[in-house]
Amino acid sequence: MEVLYIVIPCYNEEDMLPITAKALILKLDTLIADRRISPMSKVMFVDDGSQDRTWELIERFHRSCDLFTGIKLSRNRGHQNALLAGLMTAKDYADIIISMDADLQDDINAIDGFLDKREEGCEIVYGVRSSRETDTGFKRFTAESYYKLLEAMGVEITYNHADYRLMSKRAVEALAEFKEVNLFLRGIVPMVGFKSDIVTYERAARQAGESKYPLKKMLSFAVEGITSLSVKPIRFITGLGVTIFFVAIIMLVYFLIIHGMGKTVHGWTSTLMSVWALGGLQLLAIGVIGEYIGKIYLETKERPKFLIDINLEEEYDEFEKE
Ligand code: UDP
Ligand code: MG
Repeated sequence: MEVLYIVIPCYNEEDMLPITAKALILKLDTLIADRRISPMSKVMFVDDGSQDRTWELIERFHRSCDLFTGIKLSRNRGHQNALLAGLMTAKDYADIIISMDADLQDDINAIDGFLDKREEGCEIVYGVRSSRETDTGFKRFTAESYYKLLEAMGVEITYNHADYRLMSKRAVEALAEFKEVNLFLRGIVPMVGFKSDIVTYERAARQAGESKYPLKKMLSFAVEGITSLSVKPIRFITGLGVTIFFVAIIMLVYFLIIHGMGKTVHGWTSTLMSVWALGGLQLLAIGVIGEYIGKIYLETKERPKFLIDINLEEEYDEFEKE
């Protein structure tokens, strides 16, 4: 039986934590009783520098029950970093890790489905929302158009998947090889690869407390997703530069004709010609520089060039040992 750790980033979640803890303990107890996971399994809360009693509660849960543990970050670093901190800590103790939010918007009964897929040999299982009825129309619209935009930008992402997923220790170790600071986990995890699958679930409404993602944070998260995973915006500038340069050539002909007809004020032709030609050239030049910066950007991330799924040599060694 594998040891399961459920990692939960928490930021000012004092209203929600007692409800979450209760629900999760019931779930874990059942899974352990059914012998689906090891009795060493735990819920790991990550306190992301909360200002309220969140950490106090986590410590209290830990004292009262072995199934709870926690880590406390030195200060608020945001959801994605808190989640990563949890994953990287939990991988030393767990065989499989499930990440979810503190607000129980992700249906914890999907965990059974996750474990089924794990038993089929999956290293990563993505939780996918089947409906967003409980979200406000605005949030639904922005979120769904955002997934579409990301796709258009060439980012490989699972539609309607947030950060509710199961990862094996192996997958988390592979994730650790992605050293980037600009973290957009749901875009990076698919890069890890390995056998993966999805499990769909209904997304519920937040039961207590309020969303920690106001519009401002949501927007910066959205920009982060695009700029940390795609160099297409740079390509766009290059394309624009080329287009404008071609337009400039057409305009040149037009200006010269008007000039030849003598219908212009002195200096008009040369001024406009340089405005168009230079504008196009400048955009093109910026685009070219951008291409190189894009390359440097990707280099600095030091992402792994490959990850090995199966190495028959190693399997052979293990076989010999037995
Ligand atoms: N969260 C965090 N640090 C932050 C903001 C949020 O750890 O700076 C946690 C929060 O406690 C919750 C999860 O991230 O467990 C998702 O936040 P929330 O439910 O508010 O986002 P929403 O579901 O509204 O997108
Ligand atoms: Mg939420």
